[in-house]
Amino acid sequence: MPADLELNETSHDALVSGCPLWGKSGILPAYQPLRQSFKGDIAIIGGGITGALVAEHLTARGFSVIVIDREQPGLGSTAASTAMLQWEIDRTLGELENLYGFERAAGIYRRSGACVAGLAKLVAAHGIACDFRPRNSLYLAVNHEGARELMEERQLRRRAGLPGHYLEHPDLLTQYEFDRDAAILSPGSAEADPLLLTWALLQVAISRGAHLIHASVTALHSEGGRLTVMTDGPQVIEARHVVLATGYSMPGLDMPKLHRTRSSWALATVPQKPEDLWRDSMLLWEDSHPYLYLRTTADNRIIAGGEDDDTVEPQLRDSKLPSKIMTIREKLKRLWPKADTRVDHAWCGAFGETSDGLPLIGPVPGMNGVYAAYGYGGNGITFSYLAAQMIGAMLAGMYRDWFDDFALDRDAPVFRDFREVPLQSGDELR
Ligand SMILES: Cc1cc2nc3c(=O)[nH]c(=O)nc-3n(C[C@H](O)[C@H](O)[C@H](O)COP(=O)(O)OP(=O)(O)OC[C@H]3O[C@@H](n4cnc5c(N)ncnc54)[C@H](O)[C@@H]3O)c2cc1C
Repeated sequence: MPADLELNETSHDALVSGCPLWGKSGILPAYQPLRQSFKGDIAIIGGGITGALVAEHLTARGFSVIVIDREQPGLGSTAASTAMLQWEIDRTLGELENLYGFERAAGIYRRSGACVAGLAKLVAAHGIACDFRPRNSLYLAVNHEGARELMEERQLRRRAGLPGHYLEHPDLLTQYEFDRDAAILSPGSAEADPLLLTWALLQVAISRGAHLIHASVTALHSEGGRLTVMTDGPQVIEARHVVLATGYSMPGLDMPKLHRTRSSWALATVPQKPEDLWRDSMLLWEDSHPYLYLRTTADNRIIAGGEDDDTVEPQLRDSKLPSKIMTIREKLKRLWPKADTRVDHAWCGAFGETSDGLPLIGPVPGMNGVYAAYGYGGNGITFSYLAAQMIGAMLAGMYRDWFDDFALDRDAPVFRDFREVPLQSGDELR
């Protein structure tokens, strides 16, 4: 039975705006226009961090790979990322336990940790210069109630064999200078320049024979075990498998209950005096709604982001930039009074997320040979790494039961009316 999947036309401009700070010392890999029709094992649609990680992994497995992007690879959502490479998922372990039970939730968290470790090894193996640095993360409570929840979360994490420890107010204040009720301090996260990482991974794939092609994919056609990738030109690409790595420009996969797109805002300050930064340049995030997160950069800037809301219209999102940046600056100053909050870069972008905080990875139902690699949420890049590993294993014929945790057709809670809804055990979200 032939089947078709239409792809949409969302451009980088509709996804991100403003002035992120990445890729200054990098070189965009050479990409060729589609002058002839191609045949290969795998066509990857999208050359952002997800497509780059998938391309690196699949070329390492010996597949012939074609990466197709209609704009400059990496300059979509990847360039807007603040690139905190965390294993702590948007949904706490406690929330995931409520949804899926302890064993499954613990397995998901441990796998997420293994992904950040795997990313670190990958960067080291290729000697990629992308300011990749291992970092501890500090997950801060905003009040007494939050402190109690963090203590329970830490106990659950201990039971799951996850690293870290709980800090109470006196230790937090004297050792780390944060005036908050409590926090969980965890090792095993990292930070990077996402654009340098993407371009370097694409370059590795190209050095192994991958083609990086400039074309817009309009549709996929599946028939008789062969996939045809239709483009905006007369040429077509034939492949045995297709990986969708199109970021927040998601094709017509019908899953509005599980997935939604919102908007997020971020700033980078002027460089700080090194002595004015917090201890160990940890990744910081607050257990607040809307949340606040902070990291530092190689040149001692502070990146602060958050203030996510339900805006989807790009012009409205852009018009909110000044007020959102003002709010983020105020919150930054409250959390870290030593900060010089003058802003050098401010930007915003579409931000996809799922109701359970987990990515959408695996076969696309009804489209034989087509795989989705959608690492949504604050762990987008960690999950992009997971997508590369999982799809590589699937193409090599290796299936594991836990792959179903990330399946597109999993039985997950639904977003009600696209509003922020806390997840609780047994409520009608299930
Ligand atoms: C403000 C902000 C902060 C963030 N912070 C973090 C963070 O700290 N940590 C983290 O892990 N994640 C973070 N994220 C999320 C992270 O940026 C994304 O998960 C990640 O960049 C997605 O990468 P991607 O390669 O899937 O998508 P993209 O980078 O958007 O790449 C997709 C590519 O596909 C191409 N494409 C799409 N459709 C077609 C088509 N039909 N034909 C040809 N090409 C096509 C596009 O041109 C694009 O280049 C943040 C996101 C935002 C907006």
